[in-house]
Amino acid sequence: MTAINIPELIRQYPLLRQLIALDEVAWFNPAITPLAEALPHVGLGAADIRAASECLQRFAPYLMQAFPETAPANGMIESALVDIPRMQLQLEQESATRITGRLLLKQDSHLPISGSIKARGGIYAVLKHAETRAMAAGLLTETDNYRQLADASFRSFFSQYRIAVGSTGNLGLSIGIMSARLGFAVTVHMSADARQWKKDKLRAHGVQVIEYEQDYGVAVAQGRQAAAHDPACFFIDDENSETLFLGYAVAGERLKRQFDERGIAVDAQHPLFVYLPCGVGGGPGGVAFGLKMAFGDHVHCLFAEPTHSPCMLLGVHTGRHDSIAVQDIGIDNITAADGLAVGRASGFVGRAMERRLDGYYTVSDQRLYQQLGALSRSEGIQLEPSALAGMQGPVVLSRAHAYRQRLQLDETRMKNATHLVWATGGGMVPEQEMAVYLSKAG
Ligand SMILES: *Cc1c(COP(=O)(O)O)cnc(C)c1O
Repeated sequence: MTAINIPELIRQYPLLRQLIALDEVAWFNPAITPLAEALPHVGLGAADIRAASECLQRFAPYLMQAFPETAPANGMIESALVDIPRMQLQLEQESATRITGRLLLKQDSHLPISGSIKARGGIYAVLKHAETRAMAAGLLTETDNYRQLADASFRSFFSQYRIAVGSTGNLGLSIGIMSARLGFAVTVHMSADARQWKKDKLRAHGVQVIEYEQDYGVAVAQGRQAAAHDPACFFIDDENSETLFLGYAVAGERLKRQFDERGIAVDAQHPLFVYLPCGVGGGPGGVAFGLKMAFGDHVHCLFAEPTHSPCMLLGVHTGRHDSIAVQDIGIDNITAADGLAVGRASGFVGRAMERRLDGYYTVSDQRLYQQLGALSRSEGIQLEPSALAGMQGPVVLSRAHAYRQRLQLDETRMKNATHLVWATGGGMVPEQEMAVYLSKAG
């Protein structure tokens, strides 16, 4: 890998000066492309999302059996959509910025089984793998009732196989809990950022947890290497997995249904803005892909990252994708937003999605805590720090005059706009831990 000449890179991309100074920045990509134009890097389409959705449907009877908390939604792992008007007022007052349109929160923070957005991609990846193994052995067909997967005979079958993953916490939680419940032997390689309670919870589920003193990139690399020597081991590769990506993408059609039920329109006169916290990129990238497929060109997605871990902004802005890490330009990748503590973005996601994402911005840890407190006070909703990254989005967008002019998003259209903040985690944070978060909110 070629060494990086920082002064030269800054000359070419002046925004990097602010990025390196850890200022909060926003960048709106001038090279976005309408959906109708085929993109070179997206080998995936509507049929792939449909296949993922149908697979999840087949597993619904099993999930209802194995995780009774999914029964009210008939075995679907889906989250609520709620209005947060008091938080909207808070944001406007605190930023002295008018936010035109309606503010909603998508509560993936409270998804069943693992309490984060990873309950979409992570659990789907495990289920898909289990299905593939069971079908290959002639034990299962698509038309069977998958409830039988809860039987001892299936658990015993799956116990011959191992699943491994590298994680900052939440992906490990999702994959660990799901794999262990099916009967797989499962190993989670946890980065230094991972919270102790997540490791404890996994061990209580019988998951092997290996801890690293380094960051996410190292945990993934070690996990990948360990799995490479074991043919019975399936490594779920967060940096490159199309399966994870498609599991997240199913969110698009599900959200469309929720919007239809509430009579919320999305079209040229009713734009939808979605603010997604980004770590390695698979979660927000997959969701954004699904949203684009479900809603078309009038959904506008923005990615949000901590000022200390702006890997996707850096990769897309410089066009270097996964060949550059924030550490290469002197940024430390140390943030309270543990779910977003990723120094190098997924190249697969960056290349697939860059022309379909309207913008990227960064937020300080201090702002994450402040908004964590504000959301708790104003709406009684409690999230983990990572999950607040999207909350500044409506402010960033409202101030982005040049971008809105370029897309002809004038006041008349903005009056009909929906702002959707994707809350990505926090539903399982222990009370004591949440009290510490709240105490830092000031
Ligand atoms: C993992 C995670 C994200 C981001 O997902 P990536 O796939 O890493 O980009 C956002 N928020 C929380 C709480 C997460 O755990």
